[in-house]
Amino acid sequence: MAKLLVVEDDDAISEPLVRALVREGHEVAHAASGEAALAEIDADDPDLVVLDVGLPGIDGIEVCRRVAERRPRPAILMLTARSSELDEVLGLDAGADDYLTKPFTLSVLTARVRALLRRGEQGAAEAGGVRVDPSARRAWNGEAELELSPKEFDLLALLVSRAGEAVRREEIMDRVWDENWWGPTKTLDTHIGWLRRKLGDPQLITTVRGVGFRFEPGG
Ligand code: CA
Repeated sequence: MAKLLVVEDDDAISEPLVRALVREGHEVAHAASGEAALAEIDADDPDLVVLDVGLPGIDGIEVCRRVAERRPRPAILMLTARSSELDEVLGLDAGADDYLTKPFTLSVLTARVRALLRRGEQGAAEAGGVRVDPSARRAWNGEAELELSPKEFDLLALLVSRAGEAVRREEIMDRVWDENWWGPTKTLDTHIGWLRRKLGDPQLITTVRGVGFRFEPGG
């Protein structure tokens, strides 16, 4: 369960949205203005904010800017009224994590929320001399920064964050590739091979036969 805040002044949109997110098992608060949103974020530290651009008073872009400076900062999914507004918002680069243009279906919105929450679950982690910072998307082996493809990075971040634990293949496929992945998992072995080569010796990623992989925390 995550703590969410829906910021939208139009009840016809916010009410079904809040209901859908509550059904997903989240604790959901609602604010109808930029000022109320900022007060709520300060008071409650939500994990994710669904933020409409068009709000009375302080608009969504300004709320996003102010929130982007906070530490810790919630993930922000911005709602825009039309695609022309989306272009404008992207041009201003206020620091949102994802965008959705109205009208959208609730299933698309809840899928985006799930993806953003998953991304936020992983804080910086370190094991076996390897350090991963998901927010900056950077990783180091000792002092040397690793050059990783996006999938290699996600895979390493997951394994390092769970160091010492055997992580199941299905879980890795689900988290790193796609929640609807059901094809062959040979691509996982290929990526593990590349990662092992980049990490060098001693080998830090152990194959756990019939289960998956374990990142060795080292001594
Ligand atoms: Ca609005």
